[in-house]
Amino acid sequence: MRLEINGCAIELIRGDITLEATGAIVNAANSRLAGGGGVDGAIHRVGGPAIMDECRKIGGCPTGSAVITTGGNLKAGYVIHTVGPVYRDGAHNEPTLLANAYRESLSLALSKGIKTISFPSISTGTYGYPAKAASEVALKTILAFVKAHTGLTLVRFVLFSDADLKTYSGTLLRLV
Ligand code: ADP
Repeated sequence: MRLEINGCAIELIRGDITLEATGAIVNAANSRLAGGGGVDGAIHRVGGPAIMDECRKIGGCPTGSAVITTGGNLKAGYVIHTVGPVYRDGAHNEPTLLANAYRESLSLALSKGIKTISFPSISTGTYGYPAKAASEVALKTILAFVKAHTGLTLVRFVLFSDADLKTYSGTLLRLV
């Protein structure tokens, strides 16, 4: 699915984010930037040790914030590491923290002159955020951001399963 808002394409595809050649890809990191499983493990495996070297120097990233490193051996130029919330029951600030993670990632990309960015579905794996609720927060935040800022030309979601692609597509159709 693809649509355009304020000069920026919003795309939803199924795929593996480590293969993306956008200016930056976003990593669903943990707050110690220590690496882990899921998309984080995949990005470090494909990107190589230069990414972890920079993560160690940065030291950490609070939930809802974002930091940037080299893309190492990835096709993408940079990795933006953001930390989504661990989902408890939805009443512990999870939506705000998830929205912050997306917004901070987009702001960081803009401030570095990055025009194209790929996101995974942050927090919906190990961190347990229900995909439908997460897709609403993610897409609302991204739509609001691209309406308010120029500079980005492509924001792509790279979803790892058909089920997630279907969920995000349904949400986007409802929001526009
Ligand atoms: P979190 O800890 O934020 O929940 P996870 O990495 O456990 O992060 O999961 C986030 C999402 O990333 C899940 O939907 C998972 O299926 C997906 N994912 C895992 N590997 C990849 C990959 N290579 N490319 C894109 N998405 C991926």
